[in-house]
Amino acid sequence: MKEFEIALKIGKELTEEQLRAEAARKLGVQPAGVGTVRVVRRSIDARQDVLYRYKVEAFRAGETAPEYALPPYQDVHDAEPVIVVGAGPAGMFAALRLLMEGRKPIVLERGKDVHARKRDMATLATTGAVNPESNYCFGEGGAGAFSDGKLYTRSSKRGDIREVLHQLVAFGADPSILIDAHPHIGTDRLPIIVEKIRQCIIDHGGEYHFDTKVIDISPEFMEEGVGEKSVATLGHVRVSALTPEGEKEYKASAVILATGHSARDVYEMIHGKGWALEPKGFALGVRVEHPQWMINQMRYHGKYQPFMPTAEYSFVHQEDGRGVFSFCMCPGGVLVPSATEEQSIVLNGMSNSARNSKWANAGVVVQIEPGDEPEEYRDRGPFALMDFQRDVERSMYAYTAEHKREGQNPLAAPAQRMKDFCRGLESKDLPKTSYTPGAIPAPLHELLPEHVARRLRRTFPQIDRQMHGYYTNDALLFGVESRTSSPVRIPRDPETLQHPACPGLYPCGEGAGYAGGIVSSALDGIACALKAAGREMGREMEVVDN
Ligand SMILES: Cc1cc2nc3c(=O)[nH]c(=O)nc-3n(C[C@H](O)[C@H](O)[C@H](O)COP(=O)(O)OP(=O)(O)OC[C@H]3O[C@@H](n4cnc5c(N)ncnc54)[C@H](O)[C@@H]3O)c2cc1C
Repeated sequence: MKEFEIALKIGKELTEEQLRAEAARKLGVQPAGVGTVRVVRRSIDARQDVLYRYKVEAFRAGETAPEYALPPYQDVHDAEPVIVVGAGPAGMFAALRLLMEGRKPIVLERGKDVHARKRDMATLATTGAVNPESNYCFGEGGAGAFSDGKLYTRSSKRGDIREVLHQLVAFGADPSILIDAHPHIGTDRLPIIVEKIRQCIIDHGGEYHFDTKVIDISPEFMEEGVGEKSVATLGHVRVSALTPEGEKEYKASAVILATGHSARDVYEMIHGKGWALEPKGFALGVRVEHPQWMINQMRYHGKYQPFMPTAEYSFVHQEDGRGVFSFCMCPGGVLVPSATEEQSIVLNGMSNSARNSKWANAGVVVQIEPGDEPEEYRDRGPFALMDFQRDVERSMYAYTAEHKREGQNPLAAPAQRMKDFCRGLESKDLPKTSYTPGAIPAPLHELLPEHVARRLRRTFPQIDRQMHGYYTNDALLFGVESRTSSPVRIPRDPETLQHPACPGLYPCGEGAGYAGGIVSSALDGIACALKAAGREMGREMEVVDN
């Protein structure tokens, strides 16, 4: 096998003949001596001309080209159950892996199915009414269902990313996600995939229960042996949940807790039981929206053509001892209200598969470490950063509640032009935005915590050196981007992945503090499923930072 690269101007097609001719040259054989030839990676190089760079694998005729094969899903109607709390990426991929392991996943989800959930989000955008059980973070598909569906991860984690990508393709994602350096699915396609995953789990004997909010988890032990020789072993873990029909109980020997970074009540439930929790750093800042044409011109150095992929960007910067970085950039996307509680304002972004809106948005956030919170939060134990996060979200709402026009959507967000923010000036007017609830001119330089505002104000002009034109008053900043990752960690044994106070409980995914983003959460779901099924994890694998 030989690996080689081909670079081609974007817009030109890479033909089979071209590939085979190049493969013959690289392998040093006649074209008839070439076997399988396949593109394994595609990335964009816009340093000079705008090129697609293809990484290709070529095999000689007769040589076997290894194929990736997923283990089959088993019929689990009568198998031993594992409870999976949360139907986000971690929960869904845990459930799929349980099917492969011959265990019956029972998925408990506080929100609605992905179809019904859409209606609540439409209401959110038009009336500002937040349904605390069904919103941009809660409901089938989790926080990733209505997103850009970016599938790259910076984390280096245990697990095989191919297991996630190949299943997504099997459930309807475009096969290009298997080779693109920056794959994404788009919010128009994700719900269909999420529904197919659920159908597959149910068809194989698993269960899904919507409107089922878990409110308590307890291990129940049984005595084995007699007298002094008796030992207490885990009988099962009992899970209590609120459902429209009243409180229900579920039991299993293993429970995967994959409730995401916004389930503050789950952290409170764990803390209330006296089980360990730890504060964890997260990141806080603003959502920035530029006209997409500006980002296209910046990234493609003025050579953008409409047939080229919509340009994206990312940066990492150090400012006064803390990282300031772009987060979850949505090219050709729209801003969405992603609060899970009333009277708070949180923004995030999503894009369609075509990434064809007129706007580009990204979080630009400052790393917050335990101890960075103001003095008054220091006695809150594991909730110091979570309470700080919540209060910043509420302060945004409090400002707009006072300044909004009569009849304006209560989720209209505080906004400021970028240069005005850096210069400490209120914006007299605001440009058009993709954010449906609307924008209200606000002094974000004063509303944000001082150490966050200061670092952001210094960062934006610096970024202009890398991306000329980025620092502009045509860019709009919105408060606040705060649900970047969990501000709390639920501890687990690094080997067994179980909570130290509750054998059989597997804290999992972003909410437990072990993942960030769709892919790494899915990988953590798989890792927990393997442990819950009593299997060792697969080989260690580095997930390359794209
Ligand atoms: C608008 C938006 C856009 C995003 N875009 C991207 C992107 O393009 N790419 C990317 O990689 N990441 C993106 N993210 C982040 C990504 O969605 C998360 O990192 C990922 O979904 C985390 O997966 P998870 O399964 O750990 O948790 P979640 O997806 O948060 O899922 C948790 C699930 O648990 C349920 N739940 C919570 N509490 C309970 C309870 N008590 N009982 C029962 N169920 C409960 C919730 O309803 C939810 O469905 C985006 C997030 C948002 C909000």
